[in-house]
Order: sequence, then structure tokens, then C-alpha cells
Amino acid sequence: MTTPQVADPSADLTADVVVLGLGVAGESVATQLARAGVDVLGIEAGLVGGECPYWGCIPSKMMLRAAHLLTEAGRVPRFAGQARVSPDWAPVARRIREEATTDWDDTVAVQRYVGEGGRFLRGRGRILGPRHVEVPGTGVVEARRALVITTGTEAAVPPIPGLADTPYWTNREAIETEAVPATLAVLGAGAIGCELGQVFARFGSEVTLLDAADRPIPMEEPAAGRLLADALRADGITLRLGDGVDRVDHVEGRFRVETAGGKVEAERLLIATGRRPRIDAQAWAALGLEGRPGALPVDDRLRVTDGVWAAGDIAGQGGFTHVATYHADIVAREILGREGPAADHRALPRVTFTEPEVGAVGLTEEQARARGLDVAVGSADVAATSRGWIHGAGNAGLIKLVVDRSTDELVGATSAGPAGGEILGALAVAVHGRVPASTLEQMIWAYPTFHRGIQDALRDLRS
Ligand SMILES: Cc1cc2nc3c(=O)[nH]c(=O)nc-3n(C[C@H](O)[C@H](O)[C@H](O)COP(=O)(O)OP(=O)(O)OC[C@H]3O[C@@H](n4cnc5c(N)ncnc54)[C@H](O)[C@@H]3O)c2cc1C
Repeated sequence: MTTPQVADPSADLTADVVVLGLGVAGESVATQLARAGVDVLGIEAGLVGGECPYWGCIPSKMMLRAAHLLTEAGRVPRFAGQARVSPDWAPVARRIREEATTDWDDTVAVQRYVGEGGRFLRGRGRILGPRHVEVPGTGVVEARRALVITTGTEAAVPPIPGLADTPYWTNREAIETEAVPATLAVLGAGAIGCELGQVFARFGSEVTLLDAADRPIPMEEPAAGRLLADALRADGITLRLGDGVDRVDHVEGRFRVETAGGKVEAERLLIATGRRPRIDAQAWAALGLEGRPGALPVDDRLRVTDGVWAAGDIAGQGGFTHVATYHADIVAREILGREGPAADHRALPRVTFTEPEVGAVGLTEEQARARGLDVAVGSADVAATSRGWIHGAGNAGLIKLVVDRSTDELVGATSAGPAGGEILGALAVAVHGRVPASTLEQMIWAYPTFHRGIQDALRDLRS
């Protein structure tokens, strides 16, 4: 792995705008400003592009594509003849190394950004105040007009006794691995834990997934979590839910995870218990913020304080690449003084790319009720639609709609099943556009498609 040091040709340590962290959000803000002719200096400690292209969305989805192909090919004898499938991790690791990450080298990304007119500094910036960032070995950088904080998040490692002394994996080691472990314990059944757990299980690893919650993806609809739990079990994954971890040890090359319900042993342990904002107490105080550091508090223009903006994971909202780019557009627009709407996270979409794919947008039923909304809900079984029946094996799925009775508007929806994340598109448009359920009921839904399940869910809603 290489991380080239591309020094700014100018030794000038002042800039109109300083962008701290050139991940998804920072690279986008800095590039947009540079294109508009603004003097912008981007500071990056790791790789330009951030988590998504090197250790997140892109390589993990390459892994899932390969894992799902194996399972789908295994269905051929039932539907179409003969196929013998023998998993091989080498093409997956090669694709990630060569096609996705160029061996975790960001030279092209740096050149692309500098080519747009942005100035670049490699280093870990320390925020000294709303206008100043210290970069060790370089000096103190001054932002004349604006500081944009886009430092993202990193794997949150829980304070479990013994864990810190073990060679556990985070998403980074799991993505970089050249080999599939024979046994894998995954701590955390959120989207990342479920996705990576399913990948390794489908490549032959004996996987145990542990979570204190009683179902996978606990932030989504309970029915979607139960559906995913069934699918993961069908992949041979052992689910240890509702059980906290008391201690972790690494003895003679094996992990030993102790829970109230018993011991789990594995060759590898993947920690997927959430993400932690990359900001420390010193930076928090330097920005004049009170309390403990966390996601930066922002207004609906993504401003932290006068002249300071935040975008992407560090600004909260769940941590998605599409949110990072959405935020980046708003921040760039604000700094350029252009008109535009404030941030609106009402129709925030998210997808867990397991099989079944679980997409969701807006509020779950529980969240809507917690906000005091009088809701009506409707559900449909994707497997029972015509398309689901035609599809056969791998057709498990559900559509759930959450409607505000006072306006008849869709405020949330879940779409799980084959291409569940793609079918979500129609539901995201409806939530974003405040489309009344009565309008959706009058639509013509193409036959036989999975999204006709939305029509079934509407019928259930009205029944
Ligand atoms: C395994 C995994 C799978 C994922 N899959 C998806 C997916 O399918 N879809 C989706 O939408 N999202 C997905 N995500 C989330 C997505 O990767 C993040 O939401 C996205 O990367 C956030 O962009 P960001 O710019 O806010 O932060 P980051 O991408 O984390 O970038 C922040 C950058 O700031 C730099 N930095 C931090 N501190 C400093 C400092 N002090 N000085 C200088 N530089 C600094 C870091 O090195 C980093 O490059 C996934 C994440 C993971 C881990």
C-alpha cells in the first residue's frame, strides 16, 4: 500500500476555504469550490476519497455481488440444469485490490482534485479554532472565509474487557483480507455486520453473528429484521441475539468471546458495532462546543458556527455516501452564496445489501408513532406477488408502508426482497414528494414486477 505525499506547490498556509478531510463529502465540497474558482485547501490524513471507495460501500458491494452470485448459481439445478459452484476468494480480493482501490493508492484521486484547481496537503489536521488548523510538520493553516469539517467516522470499538489487546478486525481488515477465515464471529448485526457476515458465510466461513438487540438491523422495521434473520440462518449463520458480550480473549490464535449465553470461538473477530465521529475533545472545545464530542451539531444549512460548516458522517444522519454528497452540495452552495433549499432529511433512504436486500426510507412505524403521528400501515409479502412466485427461491421479501392519517401522505416505507433497494426508489419519490396514498392507489403498476407489492400493501393499508 502506498500513500503518496503530494505537497502543495505553494507554501502558502492561508486559503479562502480549508476543507479538513477529503473523503466523500470533503472531496466533493473542495472540488466544487475549486471549479468555481475559490482558493481552497484540502487536508487529508489518509486517502482522498475516504472510507467509501477504499474500505466501505464499493469494495463491500463487490464482495456481496460475488457472494450473491455463488448463491444464485447454486439455484441453477432447481431451475435450469446443472451448475457446480466452488467458491474462490482470489477473484474477489483481486477485484478489490486492482479495480476498486488500486492497492489502496489515491494518486489518481489526488491528481483529479488538484487538476480541478484545488490545493492539497497530506497530513492529520488538528482544529485549533474556527479559522485555524494545525498540520504537524507543516504549520498552522488559516481559513480566511470558511472551515469545512468533513472528517467522517471510524469503527467504534466497544470497551469490552480484553478486546483492546486482541487482533480484532474492523471493516478495514475485513475488506483487505486475502483469505476467508474458517470461522468468524461478528459483533454487531447492523448493516455492516450483516453484509460482511453474509459474504463470508457464502464463501464457506462458519459465521456467528452476535448482537445485544433481539434482531438484525434493529433500527429498521422489526419485520424486516426478522426476515433478514431467517435469511442469515438459511445461509448457515448462527445468530446470538439479545446477548451482551462480557469478555474477549485471543488465545493460541483463536478468539474466545464470552457472553451470558455461552462462549463463541472463532479464528477471526469482526467488530461492527457502529461508527464513531472522528473529532476529539480538544477540537470540540476549540470550536466552542459544549458537552462530549459526537456528531457535529449543525443547522439546516449545515453550519456548525459562524464560518464553520460540517458535511457527511461527521454531521450525523446515519452515515451514508448519498448523504455525504447531498451535504456537500449544500455546503458548497452556501459558501458560494448561491440560493437553494435547506437540508431536508425527511426522505432519507438506506439499503442493507444482503439477500434479501433491505431498503427503507423515511420513518419506521415506531418512529412515526414516537413523533405523535396518527399512522396507518399496510404490508405485503413479496414472495406472494406474481413476480415473487415466478422468481422462486430467493424471493423472500416484504413491503411496508407508513402513512400519516391526517394528510394521507406516505412518511416511511420499507422494501425488502430481490432488488429491494431498487424498488425503494418509487417509495423514496413518494415520501420525498409527499405523495398521498390515494394517488399511489390510482397508479398503474407494471405486471409482473416486484414493485406491484406496493399496490398490495396499499390494499392492506385500506382494509
Ligand atoms: C463497510 C462499510 C460499508 C458501507 N456501505 C455503504 C453503502 O453501501 N452505501 C452508503 O451510502 N454508505 C455506505 N457506507 C458509509 C460510507 O462509507 C460513508 O457514509 C462515507 O464514506 C462518508 O463520507 P465522509 O466524507 O463523511 O467520511 P469519510 O469517507 O470517512 O471521509 C473522511 C475523511 O477525513 C479524513 N480525516 C479524518 N480526520 C482527519 C484529520 N484530522 N485531518 C485530515 N484528514 C482527516 C479521513 O482520513 C477520511 O479520508 C459504508 C461504510 C462502511 C464502513
